[in-house]
Amino acid sequence: MTEITPKSLREFIETKQLYCAEEFTEGLLWKPSNLWFSEIDAFCPRCKKEKTYLNTEEVIRSRGGMTSSTPKPRIKSGIHHFDFKCVSCFQKVCIWVDAKVKESTYVLEKIGEIPRKRLDRDTALQKFFSDDQECYERALVCLSHGYGIAAYAYMRRIAENHIDSLLSLVTKEVEASNPDPELIEKIETLHGNSPMSEKIRIANIAIPSSLNPDGLNPLGKIYKALSEGIHSRSESECLESATNLMESIRYLISELTERSKNRNQYLKITQKI
Ligand SMILES: [Zn+2]
Repeated sequence: MTEITPKSLREFIETKQLYCAEEFTEGLLWKPSNLWFSEIDAFCPRCKKEKTYLNTEEVIRSRGGMTSSTPKPRIKSGIHHFDFKCVSCFQKVCIWVDAKVKESTYVLEKIGEIPRKRLDRDTALQKFFSDDQECYERALVCLSHGYGIAAYAYMRRIAENHIDSLLSLVTKEVEASNPDPELIEKIETLHGNSPMSEKIRIANIAIPSSLNPDGLNPLGKIYKALSEGIHSRSESECLESATNLMESIRYLISELTERSKNRNQYLKITQKI
């Protein structure tokens, strides 16, 4: 469980989807006196980029209309409201959070956000999933609303449809950068019909180290997420699997596309010399 700190609260406000609760514990060093932040980072639809948004007021209005700011109210059960404005164009963002406080745990849920968070469409992924555009859009909508079970179902279908194309890209990268017959053979076996447990084992060793940041192994994570079912898993567990699938594929696609682009550019230039 995450410890409640100004940093973790700000991250919650910036990134949490609607209707997706998160539980925090009280930290040893920082007692949560309020839910106030001086600023957040968010995408500004008017400036069309990530901008800093400043908090427009120091007062937290909790249920019951209490507006005192000295001393700042502690996080307590009720609905809290925030207003932020873009530093450049003054575009406003309003966020509502429902807090449930029990002894030293805090369950926070974002229950409203205006304007609605934009869907984070990735152009490389859009291109890669071009023949599954409808499912990709639906997965994004479900992710942005915290509908984990539905998001996982859509992401799993897209991933299953595209896993072979992804493996072909990984093979091309290995062949071009560091031809290793053993590694290529391992990747080839992932195309086959072996049991998922075997695929997870192979995926964990069939990735070149250049595509394995800090040993996090995006290919292994994809196979692990594909092996997980929907039955008996909670909304937040499915949300985590859907996010893992999306982010691991996003990482591999962007890395592989960038490498291939750089390689082609280099070949084009050096062939002229
Ligand atoms: Zn702006």
